[in-house]
Amino acid sequence: MKTTQLTDIRKIEVGQASEPGLISDTDVLIRVGVVGVCGSDIHYYEWGRIGDQVIDFPFTIGHEFAGTVEQTGSLVTRVKPGDRIAVDPSVACGHCDQCKQGRPHTCRNNKFLGCPGQLSGSLKEKIVMPEENCFPLPDNLTLEEGALSEPLSIGLYAVKQSGLQKGMNIGILGYGPIGMSVYLAAQAYGMDKAYVSDKLEPRLEMARMQGAALTANPDREDVVAPFQEAEPSQLDVVYECCGDQQALDQAIDLVKPGGRILIVGIPPVDRWGFDVNKGRRKEVTLINVRRQNDTVQETLDLMASGRIKARSMVTHRFTLDQTPQAFDLVANYRDGVMKAMVQND
Ligand SMILES: [Zn+2]
Ligand SMILES: [Zn+2]
Repeated sequence: MKTTQLTDIRKIEVGQASEPGLISDTDVLIRVGVVGVCGSDIHYYEWGRIGDQVIDFPFTIGHEFAGTVEQTGSLVTRVKPGDRIAVDPSVACGHCDQCKQGRPHTCRNNKFLGCPGQLSGSLKEKIVMPEENCFPLPDNLTLEEGALSEPLSIGLYAVKQSGLQKGMNIGILGYGPIGMSVYLAAQAYGMDKAYVSDKLEPRLEMARMQGAALTANPDREDVVAPFQEAEPSQLDVVYECCGDQQALDQAIDLVKPGGRILIVGIPPVDRWGFDVNKGRRKEVTLINVRRQNDTVQETLDLMASGRIKARSMVTHRFTLDQTPQAFDLVANYRDGVMKAMVQND
């Protein structure tokens, strides 16, 4: 079968590998249909690492995917051959303290697709996953929407962790696919106004099209003053979705006393800081978001019912052979790219 491999910094090669087989009775062999290129994949592509997770080349990345079931182990009941499925790329052990406390996303033995030292990624023709990671796709959703359910489930989890209530006003700093996922989930949960910043104009335009109350580009203008002028009592929740120190500083200025800041972005640095006095005087709650927990099915349901409309997130499509071009485009933020999809056909 065809596979892709990251063979060096900024170098992806397309080649051949032997087909994976079922190992456990609860395994599912999946024909990969479409894979979304994620910001975390780009971290590995550009720097070969996220924090202390360092790639040992060659390695296959990719984790946002949907596909079709080809074969199932004898004990599998959730799916059957021919089913179209979305896949949760996070494999938990099921027996550590975290798993037992209902926190499989912080499982002590967690293995995530396309993470070095864990599991080989999904940018290939076929892959094997445990059945509990497989979610049958509602009939009215496309495979692409199935792949989008991965970042969207993170957005939905961030919104749930923030305690967002109907009528609240929010800030979203960074409007890439994760920022947009937060936006769509917050909309489904009844937010009132959203204030959005990003350094890329096409992304701000997309935010305005979605209905953002006000947008600002930190490279060209002040973000805090116009948002505060429009919302003098400040924002209930601010979601940091770009991993940028400047955005975290702005979040502390923008949030109202007693408000919450959700850290959803992945910073390119290992440490960052915040103004302790501002944070203390406002009694701000800072919440870290680790991917998602138990929000995949709810995300699929919200998409199937039309309460989350995410199709417009996909701006570019490539074949598996064109994976290098897809990464080059996304890493360089070219051509107004939001989400690039790699299709396996
Ligand atoms: Zn992702
Ligand atoms: Zn565990």
